Amino acid sequence: MATLATLVSLLLLGVQTQVRSEWTYSEGDLDEEHWPLEYPACGGRRQSPINLQRQKVRFNPALTALHLTGYGDDQAGQFSMTNNGHTVQISLPSSMRLAAPDGAEYAAVQMHYHWGGASAELSGSEHTVDGMRRVIEIHVVHYNVKYESYDVAKDAPDGLAVLAAFVEVEDYAENTYYSSFISHLANIKHPGQSTVLSDLTVLDMLPEDLVHYYSYWGSLTTPPCTENVRWFVLEDSVKLSRAQVWKIENSLLTHHNRTLHNGYRKAQPLHGRVVEANFYHFPSQRSEVEFLLHRIENNIQYLVKALAPKKAKKQY
Ligand SMILES: [Zn+2]
Repeated sequence: MATLATLVSLLLLGVQTQVRSEWTYSEGDLDEEHWPLEYPACGGRRQSPINLQRQKVRFNPALTALHLTGYGDDQAGQFSMTNNGHTVQISLPSSMRLAAPDGAEYAAVQMHYHWGGASAELSGSEHTVDGMRRVIEIHVVHYNVKYESYDVAKDAPDGLAVLAAFVEVEDYAENTYYSSFISHLANIKHPGQSTVLSDLTVLDMLPEDLVHYYSYWGSLTTPPCTENVRWFVLEDSVKLSRAQVWKIENSLLTHHNRTLHNGYRKAQPLHGRVVEANFYHFPSQRSEVEFLLHRIENNIQYLVKALAPKKAKKQY
């Protein structure tokens, strides 16, 4: 009898844990304000996403272009695409690699999207730029290959890297690279459903300019919010038509059987962190012209010095 009671209480405990672990962004007991109660790291000092305040970004010329390999391959094979109740997630092959400027190498695991859509034209990116939320944000999640697997890396202090990009609406221009992905969303309306995406070329689903990016140290933007993510947020954005964005925003349902809207976390405090970028931000065209003129002036001065005839040595 005692054993049965233990068993029942264990089962109840299991059910309880399961219910409690169902985090949300805005509804129920475990909305984003309450994540830290269940996942302490979510209340940490190195959380993501953040607001990228361009005036405060530090230019770092050592941040050379990311080296992406396997991204452009027409990935022969079948890639599973799942509605996990929070987003659509595509599994990626570990042959896709990202090399950071310092030589650290990361292997891809999955990519997913964050969008808004709770009311017409409501944006849903996680990172904001000068306080402005973009339409959609793409996350390509990687783990550091110095660890044997994602499962090991996900708890290591330097375990993860996320390549992020924004989506913007370009009226009337359908982005055909997104056609297959968007048409497959209808197959995974309910959480837990999966479909197979073939002929996946991740490079085509990213912005054209892959050279310019912001970088900082942060966390996963969903529980458990582990603070071990090196972020690379691309400056350029993917362009989709309004109809394409609408389909992404309105095709999936949540565990609560509602349309999956506003799957993004609010910007988190910087707590003294510095965001770096490998490009300059000019608040106005005038400041850009002034900067360039200054550079030309410096170069001319250098040339004048270099070309000036050497003064004859004084004879004593
Ligand atoms: Zn994400």
